[in-house]
Amino acid sequence: MVDVEILDIEVVDIERLDIEILDNWTLVPVLEIILSLEIGLVYFDIYSALNLLLLSISRHFSVGRRNPTISLSISRFVPDFVFSLQIRKTPKSSPPSQAMEFLEAKEVQVGIGVAIVAVVATAAYLYTSKKSKVGSIDPENFKEFKLVKRTQLSHNVAKFRFELPTPTSVLGLPIGQHISCRGKDSQGEEVIKPYTPTTLDTDVGYFELVIKMYPLGRMSHYFRELREGDYMAVRGPKGRFKYQPGEVRAFGMLAGGSGITPMFQVARAILENPKDNTQVHLIYANVTYEDILLKEELEGLEAKYPGRFHVYYVLNQPPEEWTGGVGFVSKEMIQAHCPAPAPDIKILRCGPPPMNKAMAGHLDALGYSAEMQFQF
Ligand SMILES: Cc1cc2nc3c(=O)[nH]c(=O)nc-3n(C[C@H](O)[C@H](O)[C@H](O)COP(=O)(O)OP(=O)(O)OC[C@H]3O[C@@H](n4cnc5c(N)ncnc54)[C@H](O)[C@@H]3O)c2cc1C
Repeated sequence: MVDVEILDIEVVDIERLDIEILDNWTLVPVLEIILSLEIGLVYFDIYSALNLLLLSISRHFSVGRRNPTISLSISRFVPDFVFSLQIRKTPKSSPPSQAMEFLEAKEVQVGIGVAIVAVVATAAYLYTSKKSKVGSIDPENFKEFKLVKRTQLSHNVAKFRFELPTPTSVLGLPIGQHISCRGKDSQGEEVIKPYTPTTLDTDVGYFELVIKMYPLGRMSHYFRELREGDYMAVRGPKGRFKYQPGEVRAFGMLAGGSGITPMFQVARAILENPKDNTQVHLIYANVTYEDILLKEELEGLEAKYPGRFHVYYVLNQPPEEWTGGVGFVSKEMIQAHCPAPAPDIKILRCGPPPMNKAMAGHLDALGYSAEMQFQF
C-alpha cells in the first residue's frame, strides 16, 4: 500500500471532479477535466493517466466538502498492487508556495491535482509493483475492526462483515491462514479463538467471517451478542499452511461443520486464480442438511469451475431424498472422492477433534504419507 497525501493543492471546487459511478468498477468522468498539461519542461499526457485511475477508482468514492478523500485501487489491473491517495483542502491561511502560485493561476487545479497524483501513482507503481501488499492486521498486537453487517444464515450461523481501515485496504491474510479473534464469554472472561475469513485479499475494504454458534461455546456467546457498530479485536496472520499455486496437482479436503471455512478460502483462491490448474476434491461432513455451511457458495464454485472442483456431501442424518454419503466419512468415501496417494497431491483436514483423529487414521491406513496430509 502506498499512501500519497497531496497537502499543497487547494481544491477550489471539488465538484469539478465530477464522477458518475455506473457500477462497481466502471467510472465515467462527466466533466472532461483536462487532456494535456505542460509543467516546466515536462509534458504529461493526463488523459490516459487519468483514464487509468478513473477506471480503477473503487466504488467507495467520497467527496467531503472540507477534506475530500479519494481512494483508488489499481489492484484490478495489477493484483499485487493497491494504491490509495488523499487530496486535502489546504487551510486558507497557509502561504502559497511558488509552485502553488503557478498552480493556482490555472483554473483547473483539480485536474492538475489528479494529473500529479497520476504521475506519482505511476511512479509509485513502477517502484513498488514488486512489493507485496501491506495488510491491516498485526501478528503481535490486536487491532479493532468495526462490525458493519451481520446476516443471520440459520438459527445458529451468522455471517459477520467487518470494515477495514480504508475502502481499499486488504486484510493481508496468506491463503489458508487464519486470524485470532478476542472476545468475552458469558462470565466476562477473555476468550481468544481462531477463525478463517471466507473473503480473500481480492475483496478490498472488508473481511467476512461465517460463524457457527454453539449453545455452550465461550466465543460463540461473544459472537451471539455482537451487534452492528461493535468492534472486535483481531490479531494475525496465524497458521502453518503455506501454498504456492501449482505446488500440488490436486487437493483432497476433508471438512466437518465449521471446518469448511479454511477449505473454502483455499478452494476460492485456487479456482479464482486463472494461472492455477490445481484440482480440488472436497468431502464435507455435517449432521443434518441444515448444518451445511456456505452451500450456495460451494455450489456456485462447482458450477463455475466444472471439472476442477468437486464436492461430496456426507450427512449423519440425511433427509429422505439424499444422493450424498450417509454416516461418518469412511475410508471408501475417501478412496472414491479424493486423489489417490501420490507425491504431487495433498489431503487437508479440518473438523471437530474426533473427526480429525478418525480422518488421520483413515489416511494413514490408505497409504497417505505424513507429507501428503495437513491438518488446519
Ligand atoms: C484454523 C481454524 C479456523 C476456524 N475457523 C472457523 C470459522 O471460520 N467459523 C467457525 O464458526 N469456527 C471456526 N473455527 C472453530 C472456532 O475456532 C471455535 O472452536 C468455535 O467457534 C467454537 O468455539 P467456542 O469458544 O464457542 O466453543 P468452546 O467453548 O470451545 O466449546 C464449547 C462447546 O461447544 C461445542 N463445540 C465447540 N466446537 C465444536 C465443533 N467444532 N464441533 C462441534 N461442537 C463444537 C461443544 O459442545 C463444546 O463442548 C476454526 C477453528 C480453527 C482451528
